[in-house]
Amino acid sequence: RSKAEGRGAYRFFESQMDSDVRERRMLELELRQALKEGELVLHYQPLVSAEDNQPSGFEALVRWNHPIRGLVPPSEFIPLAEQSGLIKQIGDWTIEAACAAATAWPDDLIVAVNLSAKHFQLSDIVAVVAAALDKTGLPPHRLELEITESLLIEQPEDVIEKLRRIKALGVTVAMDDFGTGYSSLSYLLKFPFDKIKIDKSFVTASSEDAVARDILRSIASLGKTLKIHITAEGVETQEQVDFLREIACNQLQGFYFARPLDEMDLAGYVLANFRDGTSKRTASREIE
Ligand code: C2E
Ligand code: MG
Ligand code: MG
Ligand code: MG
Repeated sequence: RSKAEGRGAYRFFESQMDSDVRERRMLELELRQALKEGELVLHYQPLVSAEDNQPSGFEALVRWNHPIRGLVPPSEFIPLAEQSGLIKQIGDWTIEAACAAATAWPDDLIVAVNLSAKHFQLSDIVAVVAAALDKTGLPPHRLELEITESLLIEQPEDVIEKLRRIKALGVTVAMDDFGTGYSSLSYLLKFPFDKIKIDKSFVTASSEDAVARDILRSIASLGKTLKIHITAEGVETQEQVDFLREIACNQLQGFYFARPLDEMDLAGYVLANFRDGTSKRTASREIE
């Protein structure tokens, strides 16, 4: 009796597994189709200068505009794309679409694009970046690539060599989600990052937690020592803004300033913040 039960349980488990695999394959097919049909969209979140509250650029954040499920966040399909290798096509598309969008913005604004470690490994990433710049005509200094520490773990020498070639194009490189990975400090010494983005978990915790505030202070001073710009993400309150300014973070990003904006809202935001395609910063410099 127990044998039969056991077999039944196994069969149940097996068919459950089958259906998980099937569901994943379905989703993968759907995602492949979505890319073709133009269902992937980029939203843009302002990166604001801590000094004067003016936007210096936008981070491109991908979403899947699914006909039935609505707007699907990247956490629900990027891992799948990474497993299936589809990240190569999605990543190529993202870089080019972000560069193309930025060509329409006032001319000192940068666009920051998240680069999956998997995409980096699967393609000739330097050529991909160079081709996107070439095709869209975006000046290289207006593109920033955000990478995470996970990229540097496997073949650091190879990755660093490619990052150097990307920087040689004139593109800037930021370390994203700083503080959540393994040996952050050694990587900072091995590669000349232009920017560190402090993970939002520290900013969130800083409202309640003195240790989190001390960590933020330390990272800000590390940035000063290494001459690397510091961005704080996940900024949601005035109190956090005041603290991050006090410790001299260079750039702030978060819902306090703006949520990631779709193309329509972005156009409105740019209109409200910039006149005649000229940034207020440039305009005020002219007045001085
Ligand atoms: P990330 O690069 O660290 O992006 C910041 C995430 O924090 C975004 O989530 C953004 O919407 C969210 N965020 C911004 N301000 C706040 C805030 O004040 N409070 C809170 N609670 N959240 C805030 P999103 O868009 O869901 O993206 C999640 C992650 O997915 C990104 O983290 C990035 O790792 C990845 N991702 C997004 N777009 C792309 C892409 O185009 N390519 C790749 N490879 N990964 C992407
Ligand atoms: Mg990012
Ligand atoms: Mg980030
Ligand atoms: Mg992050």
